[in-house]
Amino acid sequence: QAVRHYLQAIEARPELNAFVSVFAEEAIARAQELDNQTTPKGRLHGVVVGIKDVLCYAGHPVSSASKILNGFESLYTGTAVQRLVDEGAIIIGRQNCDEFGMGSTNENSAYGPALNPVNPDYVPGGSSGGSAAAVAAGLCMVSLGTDTGGSVRLPADFCGIVGVKPTYGRVSRYGLIAYASSFDQVGVLAQNVADAALVLEVMAGPDGMDSTASTQPVPAIAASAKENGKSYRIAYFPEWLEHSSIDPEIRAALGQLLEQLKAEGHTVEPVSFSLTEYIVPTYYVLTTAEASSNLSRFDGVRFGHQSANPVEDLREFYKQNRSEGFGPEVKRRIMLGTFVLSTGYFDAYFTRAQQVRRLLQQQADAIFNNYDLILAPTSPTPAYKAGEKTQDPVAMYMGDIFTVFANLVGVPAAALPLFKHSANLPFSVQVMAKRFNELTLLGFSAALE
Ligand code: GLN
Repeated sequence: QAVRHYLQAIEARPELNAFVSVFAEEAIARAQELDNQTTPKGRLHGVVVGIKDVLCYAGHPVSSASKILNGFESLYTGTAVQRLVDEGAIIIGRQNCDEFGMGSTNENSAYGPALNPVNPDYVPGGSSGGSAAAVAAGLCMVSLGTDTGGSVRLPADFCGIVGVKPTYGRVSRYGLIAYASSFDQVGVLAQNVADAALVLEVMAGPDGMDSTASTQPVPAIAASAKENGKSYRIAYFPEWLEHSSIDPEIRAALGQLLEQLKAEGHTVEPVSFSLTEYIVPTYYVLTTAEASSNLSRFDGVRFGHQSANPVEDLREFYKQNRSEGFGPEVKRRIMLGTFVLSTGYFDAYFTRAQQVRRLLQQQADAIFNNYDLILAPTSPTPAYKAGEKTQDPVAMYMGDIFTVFANLVGVPAAALPLFKHSANLPFSVQVMAKRFNELTLLGFSAALE
């Protein structure tokens, strides 16, 4: 019944373009199988899940919303998805996103944009836009997205739902098509903190298939989301709240929230963050560098798009396949990344950005020695109008200013939809905690919700 309910809901909202394929018959068959199950029920028994089109699920298409992977089918199932399935989840389909996760609006997709269910004139955010739109519109119970620089939190913010990015290394990246490997993490989009915590707990933990998956034991994250009444040490960055790009209503709402938390007995203190203007450039130098390397595997030789044009030699073959297969934003980033890695520029850009990343990590460590949490905006503004930023990539990148920090330093972060803007759009507070401290992150988040 649940599966049929969601299948109907998906069918009723085709204009959202949230799903790029729906596994209808298979999902029903799986539900029937689960209904007849006699062995103990899994922790996600019957939970209907959508997955972003960058996560591999054996025997199903996966394309990173790119023409270059047109027709490609996953040969194996990624660890995060497999762990959900092992606990009784039903995968109902794969969801629209920006091509290879590169974008903030879901407008860089080979399938066309997804729309924001709160108001279809606005973008749902990106890159996990379809995953957020689906949860917000009630087309599935939860979605798996990925977050390299905000791609779970930003769409959660724009669509008014909960988005959680775990600590780097908390969840295996095996079976996640890479964008920037030292940033990418699988995350959860959900209606509430408890749902996100449970899904995270199930998919987290060591994995022999990914050496960057941490061997740290997974704490009882789901139980922590029921905790209450603790008092926390909370830091915030005045440079962020006073930032020139921030919408005055967002600034005011967060200011009030900080006051309220102080009144409730938490320690709430400003901490100066002098590197604010460096975070977006650092993020884009490093992620484009990693992307240019990761995406070099898409040459059309063994898999993926092959040009129908006649070619003279191998070089021309690569060029045709890649020119036709990649969209404009992905090409821009491959070029940028290749540039910052090239001889003569490597030290000036790539090495320098690595140094700034290390400084940011040191600052984050110092802050989390004294505080349990950092509170911040998720985005400077609520959702953009469709097309509003597509002509100005730098303006688009600047919208990531508050989300990319967590990926640069590897800490877990959540977007919590507490507020409504006078433009009738939701917006959220972003909460960050120390690395591997999802317990504190989600315990506090649940109490705030
Ligand atoms: N907007 C960011 C980018 O385009 C976010 C990407 C992501 O988290 N996948 O890089």
